[in-house]
Amino acid sequence: MLTGQVLNDSSGVLIDVEGNPADIDRLVREIKLNPPPLSTIDSVECNNNLRLANFREFRIVSSQTSTEKFVPISADIATCDECLGELFDPKNRRYRYPFINCTNCGPRFTIIEDIPYDRALTTMREFAMCRECETEYLDPANRRFHAEPTACAACGPAVSLLKTSGDNCPTAAGQDVISSARALLLAGQILAIKGIGGFHLACDALNPETVARLRQRKYREDKPFALMAGTLEQIQKYCYVSDAEVELLTSKPRPIVLLQQRSEIPIARAVAPAAKSLGFMLPYSPLHHLLMEDLDRPLVLTSGNFSDEPICIENDDARQRLSKIADAFLLHDRRIHIRSDDSLARVAQGRKLLLRRSRGYAPAPLKTEINFERQILACGAELKNTFCLTRDNYAFLSHHIGDLENLETLKSFIEGIEHFKRLFNLEPEVVAYDLHPEYLSTKYALGLNDELPKLAVQHHHAHVASCLADNGLEGEVLGVVFDGLGFGLDGRFWGGEFLVANALEAERVAHLDYVPMPGGSRAIREPWRMAAVYLQRALGDGFTNLNLPLNGIADLRSWPTLQRMIAGGVNCPETSSMGRLFDAISSLVGLRSSINYEGQAAIELEAIAGKTNGKGYGFEITEPGVIQAEPVIRNVVEDLLNGVKAPEVSAKFHLGVSRLILNVAQELRGERKLNRVALSGGVFQNMFLLQLVSMGLNELGFEVITHRRIPPNDGGISLGQAVVANAQIAAGRF
Ligand code: ZN
Ligand code: ZN
Ligand code: FE
Repeated sequence: MLTGQVLNDSSGVLIDVEGNPADIDRLVREIKLNPPPLSTIDSVECNNNLRLANFREFRIVSSQTSTEKFVPISADIATCDECLGELFDPKNRRYRYPFINCTNCGPRFTIIEDIPYDRALTTMREFAMCRECETEYLDPANRRFHAEPTACAACGPAVSLLKTSGDNCPTAAGQDVISSARALLLAGQILAIKGIGGFHLACDALNPETVARLRQRKYREDKPFALMAGTLEQIQKYCYVSDAEVELLTSKPRPIVLLQQRSEIPIARAVAPAAKSLGFMLPYSPLHHLLMEDLDRPLVLTSGNFSDEPICIENDDARQRLSKIADAFLLHDRRIHIRSDDSLARVAQGRKLLLRRSRGYAPAPLKTEINFERQILACGAELKNTFCLTRDNYAFLSHHIGDLENLETLKSFIEGIEHFKRLFNLEPEVVAYDLHPEYLSTKYALGLNDELPKLAVQHHHAHVASCLADNGLEGEVLGVVFDGLGFGLDGRFWGGEFLVANALEAERVAHLDYVPMPGGSRAIREPWRMAAVYLQRALGDGFTNLNLPLNGIADLRSWPTLQRMIAGGVNCPETSSMGRLFDAISSLVGLRSSINYEGQAAIELEAIAGKTNGKGYGFEITEPGVIQAEPVIRNVVEDLLNGVKAPEVSAKFHLGVSRLILNVAQELRGERKLNRVALSGGVFQNMFLLQLVSMGLNELGFEVITHRRIPPNDGGISLGQAVVANAQIAAGRF
């Protein structure tokens, strides 16, 4: 028998054990071979030279704090199989209890207020354990031994179902609250449901009228809604699901997975208008499992917010902000301390690709090949913001903060940084931020304590660096970075960039030629403006008389005004953005004159891409490193006037962009002896393009580096900034 004690301190788990040496060896071996399911063991250190304390029993000692190291904090984990078995076992005392959890599953990050990880420092401290729960909690042989959020119906959180007026919804005889909620959903109502990382808005995904109502009330026109289905089999009814996708859907973080939809399915078209994929997730909390039980259809489960605000996490706030959207509220009284949106992922070329890394993943630190010499705070970009803190070999990439465009989001950004500093015992010594002077994240960085050294990192260099770090590399690559916009070294908006770069520095070797964006951000919301700009450059003023699909969707009468703005240089920033070129083509083929969510025009252009026997449209390089799109525009116009349909034009455009990348890569291979190409930036969320480019480069013998754990979009920028800052520090430049 072994005696001793175990305790959690801020530097890890400390086990002090006495007994037969063979038994002690076995214990150490067991810990290494069969660690507890949710633990990650970075190292095990043994010290045999301690004085005997003559322990009589084995006990857990309450936690101690030390400021030396940090203890990783688990992300929120989907309900485990054992808990699920108990949830539906009528003989179990937690039968149908919506908050069942154990050491292997349940909420973590979203309920932790401070370290060390102890019930008293989580939002569960408001619930005193009943005797039975406490007995399990104190029993080392029990699965709930020190499961901090453990609870049961007698002592733990409870659900309630309220009408928007605040009255309790009547529950039919023999029906529980969750069944009543399900009945409301089936009757076509919209429910606000409190989950793990925030509120969702839910409705029947097969009911077109309800889905349309949800869109209207939420002020969300076209951006696809996520879906939850009770089982994998149900998802397979609506989408094609590969083995890799099954693995991703059922993985512990339970992200929303983008899947290719089957044709002729009864899902309301308004769930994802103009899309060919659907975002599905499986239940990840006991409440979801109960809600989806016996439900023969998927539910829309979209973020519980009003258009671009952060999602609600508090009952009162949700009751206020969502009362104009939801018909009823399915609430519970376990507080959510930190907001965490659902994560979004897909399988790209057989591998997981995270597009939004949040609930289920954050705040688990990313172990990197890099040893961060100093603790760095990287503030990220503006859209899809995340921040990143570093320490030793770890990057603490935050949950998804959102678009830093309003005060509410800025508040969660600032609070998030403070929370991470506290949780992981971090005190930044260096601050990295984006070059864009107007980003709120930049303003925050510049407003911090003057003593802190601060480093601005160019946006596209940060993209390449994040891709390198995602692949455990640091050395030189050809970075192809295509995105919407990022502030360039010359003060213009870059976005169609070829950089020869490593973690330390980047050299811009080629880029799309600059074009004006008439009206600045309005040219982003109204892609027809970009189409007109490109048409004018390619064909001259006469383009307005051509019979193009663009004329059918856009009002070109305001073009002369825009032209005067361009001539006078009034509110017409210049851009080399590939995202804007995608917008222009999308508009040119008649898809979109204006958009109502980020990237919509380009996403729809990808969605319609069809087959072609033709070649890709050719770009031209007239002066070294400057890429002209005018020949592409001329060819698109010619095709359209000859009756070539939009799906084929889209395909030929994608082929052309891919061809451009291959050509530039081949040229540079000769000049620079570079054989490794990194693809980053939001445009590489386009699977069609990503596939064309990767295959093409592979065939030419290039090594292609793409994203996996870190999003290719601006959600990865903060990590890239940290990597660049670290390289600068290591090189003694800063
Ligand atoms: Zn469990
Ligand atoms: Zn209990
Ligand atoms: Fe970007």
